[in-house]
Amino acid sequence: MSNIMEVKFSAKSENESLARVIVASFAAKLDPTLDELADIKTAVSEAVTNSIIHGYEEDESKLVYLRCKILDDTIKIVVEDRGKGIEDVDIAMQPLYTSKPELERSGMGFTFMESFMDDVKVSSIKNEGTKVVMTK
Ligand code: ATP
Ligand code: MG
Repeated sequence: MSNIMEVKFSAKSENESLARVIVASFAAKLDPTLDELADIKTAVSEAVTNSIIHGYEEDESKLVYLRCKILDDTIKIVVEDRGKGIEDVDIAMQPLYTSKPELERSGMGFTFMESFMDDVKVSSIKNEGTKVVMTK
């Protein structure tokens, strides 16, 4: 079985829940357990929040790009922004690392994505944007 889905939305925090619901509904075809679905939704939420808060610093005129692909029994989710990018991805992905401690961020977003999904790859170019590819 294969299926694809692509959507883009404004970088508004209210769209985090939209992104979660879209992916959950798309993933339902895989007949996931409730736990698996919750994992996927959390991972999507973390990635989308990062694009909005860090990538675009809450500039609502910008767009977040979300793509999903189901191939047999796996789902691949891509969350992409054309925002400010990440200087050093290895450092950014370390547990507890955050560039915004003043916003009471805990620096656990990437760690959650990695623990809830089977594979997470992050590519980023300073001032061009960030792409997070997750599979489960
Ligand atoms: P939390 O997710 O726990 O609220 P956080 O967002 O700071 O805190 P992570 O999600 O792990 O933690 O991200 C770590 C750091 O990576 C961020 O503080 C930010 O500096 C950088 N980062 C993550 N995603 C992006 C992005 N899309 N664009 C620019 N920088 C990003
Ligand atoms: Mg985060």
